[in-house]
Parts: sequence; structure tokens; C-alpha cells
Amino acid sequence: MTDDIKAQVLGIAPLIVALRRDLHKHPEPGWKEYRTASLAARHLLDLGYKVTMGADAVRAEARLTVPDPATCARERRRAVAEGADPELVARMGDGLTGLWADLVCPGPAPEGERPGPLVALRFDMDANELLESDLPEHVPVREGFASRHAGAMHACGHDGHTAMGMGLAAVLQTLRPRLRGTVRLIFQPAEEDGLGAAPMAAAGAVDGVDRLFGLHLGIQAAHTGDLICGATDFLATTTFNIQFTGRAAHAGIAPQEGRNALLAACTATQNMHAISRHGDGASRINIGQFAAGDASNIIPAHAAIIGETRGVTSAINKYMMDEVTRMSEAAARMWGCRSRLHRTSDCPGGASSPELVDVVERVARDMDCFRHIMRTRSFRASEDFTWLMNRVQEHGGQATYIQLGTDRPAGHHTRRFDFDETALTSGMELLARLVLDSLKARD
Ligand SMILES: [Zn+2]
Repeated sequence: MTDDIKAQVLGIAPLIVALRRDLHKHPEPGWKEYRTASLAARHLLDLGYKVTMGADAVRAEARLTVPDPATCARERRRAVAEGADPELVARMGDGLTGLWADLVCPGPAPEGERPGPLVALRFDMDANELLESDLPEHVPVREGFASRHAGAMHACGHDGHTAMGMGLAAVLQTLRPRLRGTVRLIFQPAEEDGLGAAPMAAAGAVDGVDRLFGLHLGIQAAHTGDLICGATDFLATTTFNIQFTGRAAHAGIAPQEGRNALLAACTATQNMHAISRHGDGASRINIGQFAAGDASNIIPAHAAIIGETRGVTSAINKYMMDEVTRMSEAAARMWGCRSRLHRTSDCPGGASSPELVDVVERVARDMDCFRHIMRTRSFRASEDFTWLMNRVQEHGGQATYIQLGTDRPAGHHTRRFDFDETALTSGMELLARLVLDSLKARD
């Protein structure tokens, strides 16, 4: 059966490369993935999958940062003008661009037994807000599939993830009679800002899942033929903005009447960078943006900072955020100002399940395309996949985050990022084999 999988994957590879290039040409940043999601939904519906989308797949009130309705309406019109199915686009409302698709595989189930396990795979779809390189040696330019959306670019490989998910859907459909259980393909929006997974988890995307696989091209798997079977040490992270409000006054005539919000924000920033380290493990803090003031002769009444915390566990990240909150309030009080903190995104920490890492390693060693297989790597970055992973693990299931190696001319999130498209073939084959391993009907 595994030979069948390889032949099928190779058969559809040219189509999947063409699809990836089409997605690359039309990149859509977080919550604007109307065209991408509608292409995926159309494909899955045509293949006979049961599709859950729109408000059923993304719990609107669980989103931390919500796009404004006028922007969403403009993006919907743009997607339809670029060939998206208008009916499917309408179902996604204002930024409800996630979906999942179920394939129920009857297989030969023995009398009275449950219909088999539920295995889910997650693919993220969003692009980065970045201007793509126009250098002639950049492959998307040379081959004519560079971004047509100024200021948006697939600089992290999510075009490849979505294309792989759609290819996998076709392969699994042909394996269906030999599988027992249910396969769920999750197409997630807004990964880059860590926003898309939590509201999909809240809508039930991974409820009852026994095995969950996430896969990312590149990152720590730097070359084609590399494979990391499961990442550990995901950092928990929170991003936030804080507004400081004071009172304006003439800096020459009556400075004593002013309440200086700029100084409150400075005091807060410096003290946040001096938060005491936590004895249980690593933490991070960064204030990355600062804005304040109007003119040289006015005491500044407003200031705003944007920042993030991270921690090697969710508890350490919470400690950092508790300190950030305390210091912003204390700094504001010290300067006679007020402060308001708003969380813009939140991801827990996490680690892949060792048992499922073993499964990936066993299945990968049986394939001929991986030259360097690493069991685990410490990730030391953040990914909102942890929302889905933790939920599955808390309910007794297993989850792993795979990194699929690819040669690349430049790093992730840079203007010259690109990847080796042969990785799409090995990725689809690996995922199909993992589904087969998870749902193989007993003989
Ligand atoms: Zn990414």
C-alpha cells in the first residue's frame, strides 16, 4: 500500500507545485485568507469531504484581534475578483477564514466496535506583510509566480503547507476503503500573529482527536532531506500594547500642571526590561515600539508602547505578564498618569508527545527521501499550534509538530525566502503514511 502512496503522490506532484505557485502569487495575510480558504473548501467539497467553515469553525468572540468590517468587505471583493467562489467567501463573514474537512473512512469495522480513531492534520494558510524581492535571480520572479499583492508575501512557506494539505486530501480519498476511522484536515488562518489556532480550538477543531500532526517547512530543518520528527520547548508568549494617558500643559508657562505620559512610558519600559529572572527557566521581554509626544513646548499627554513576553512554560510567561502589568500601573501612578494594557495575542508553551514522535521516526525511516532524521529539537520560539496540541494532549490524545527540511536561498520572513518544491512531495508522502499508520484497518 505504501508503494501506491508514493506513486499517487508523484502523479499529483506537478498539480501541487502549480497550486503552490498560484497561492504564492496571491498571498493573503492573517484573517484575509478568503481566496486561499475558498480554494481549499471547494477542492475538499468536490472530493466528498464534510466541510465545517465560517462561524462554525472559528469562534468569533474567542479572537483577540479582530479585523474591521470595511477591510474584510474589501478583501472579500478582491478574493472574488481573483476567482474565489462567491458563495464560500460569503460564508466566511468578517475574517472567519478557518475551516476543517472530515473524511469518514468506514473500513472493515468488527461488529460492535467504535468506528475507529480520529486523526487530524493542521495546515496554516496565511502570508506575511512583507514586500517580495524583485531580483531576477529570485525564483518566483524568474518563473513568473511572484506576489501580485504589494506588501504581502508568502515568506514562511504556508503556500506550500496549504498545497500539501490539498494534495493529501486527494491521496487519502483513494486510500479511504482501506482506512477505519476519521481523518480531519484543518486549514488554519492567522498563524503569523499567533491568533488563528485558539478560536479554532474553541470552536471544537480538535475535540476528540486521538492523534494530531502539524508540519512546517524549513525552520530548524535547514536542508532538503532533513526531518525533525517533533519539536519540544515551545515558548509561551503574549503580545500587548499599553496606552499611557496624562495631562497636556504648556512646558514654559505651567509645566507643573502637566502629567507626562512619555515619562511614565519610559519608566515602565526600563523597569520591564529589568524584571527579575525566574528561577524555573528562561524568559524574554521586549518593548519593540514606542510612540509619544506632540511638540517641544507641550507636556506629552499620550504615550503608547508595544511589546511581548515569552517563557519556557506558560507559568513563566504568566509571571512575566503579571510583572509587566504591575510595572505599567506603578509607572503610571508614579507620574500621575493612567495606563491601559491590551493583550493582542497569546500562545501557551508545549512539547510534542514522545510516543507520536516515535511513530513519525519509524514511518520516516521506512521512506527513501530522508537522509538526516532527527528525533526532536528544542524549538525555543512560539507557534500557535500549541493551542491545538495542548488541547489534544489534555484529553488523552497525542500531538507532534514536524519540521520538513528544505534548501532555501534566504531565511524565513525575509524578502528572498523560497523553498525547494521537491519537499512538497516528501511531505505529502510522509503525512499520507502517518494517516495510514493511524487508521489502518485490521486485516
Ligand atoms: Zn510559518
